[in-house]
Amino acid sequence: MIIVMEPTASEDQIQKVAKKLESLDFKIVFNRGEVMTVLAAIGDKRLVDPASLASMEGVREVKLIQEPFKLSGRESKAEDTVIDLGNGTKIGGKEPSVVIAGPCSVERNFEGLLKVAQAAKEAGAKVLRGGAFKPRTSPYDFQGMEEEGLKYLAKARQKTGLLIATEVMDTPEIELVAGYADILQVGARNMQNYKLLKALGKVKKPVILKRGPSASIREFLLASEYIIYAGNPNVILCERGVKGFDSHYTRNILDIASIAVIKKYSHLPVIVDPSHATGRRYLIEPMSKASMAAGAHGLMIEVHHDPENASSDGAQSLTVDQFKELMIDLNRLSKLLGEGSRKN
Ligand code: PEP
Ligand code: MN
Repeated sequence: MIIVMEPTASEDQIQKVAKKLESLDFKIVFNRGEVMTVLAAIGDKRLVDPASLASMEGVREVKLIQEPFKLSGRESKAEDTVIDLGNGTKIGGKEPSVVIAGPCSVERNFEGLLKVAQAAKEAGAKVLRGGAFKPRTSPYDFQGMEEEGLKYLAKARQKTGLLIATEVMDTPEIELVAGYADILQVGARNMQNYKLLKALGKVKKPVILKRGPSASIREFLLASEYIIYAGNPNVILCERGVKGFDSHYTRNILDIASIAVIKKYSHLPVIVDPSHATGRRYLIEPMSKASMAAGAHGLMIEVHHDPENASSDGAQSLTVDQFKELMIDLNRLSKLLGEGSRKN
């Protein structure tokens, strides 16, 4: 930790700061410049609140040297985390990109779900997505089929061999959802539901953590820290766009740079959801390609058997045929980028 003192700080004020830190077992190195004094404090940062330190008389600024996310950061683990999703599918590091595809919501039409699942499987997707518990902006919108939807997903898994990813919205539902799903999803709205994150730390299954609509990358990584700290290291980060000022053409702003930033500071796999990021069907193809080119470890794409009549997010869902075409293109792109050559 670096403490920059004001040029006007008195010797008394400097000593007060130093003594406070020494009392907490920090070792202090004084750097006395012509204009101001800078203290380097070496010790356990958890013992002091940087904000209270910054509020002491004569202190200009307190800077933290290490990243606050200890377990999800590369400072504690340099090598990439590779997560075994089951059925021989791995995600992270230099593993081939994993595509997760399926409708926004599981609907009361099993044949439709199966059609999507079979096409996804044939095209090379490894995971079927679909919400059974739906976080909707309006309470009057379709809220999901709940356990019945989970049963549909399990049946589709049995028929196709695809893995299943689905959202868990609340702590009391974890056991139920984990009883059916291979991968649990935390929705964007729940990224900072710390009780839910802590509870997911007790689960052994991989967790897809979606970035909150207005969360900074640091807040995103700190949210993943909660799950890991509570005991579950199998966290997949999902960039799904953040709120911007222009929602006329895109639902959110897809933060492509976050992929490279996350890979620089964290060892966790990072995937992109171009569907929620853009809200527009025609943008899925270019944004999927951009995400792969930027180094994403996978994609989560909404696909519906009949998007025009979908219960939710039809406008951003690909048709089955569009998805198949996209997968052909993505396979070409991954060859071009060089399978297994993804950079950290
Ligand atoms: C979803 O993936 O079904 C979803 C609701 O997305 P988000 O949480 O990113 O809005
Ligand atoms: Mn959706």
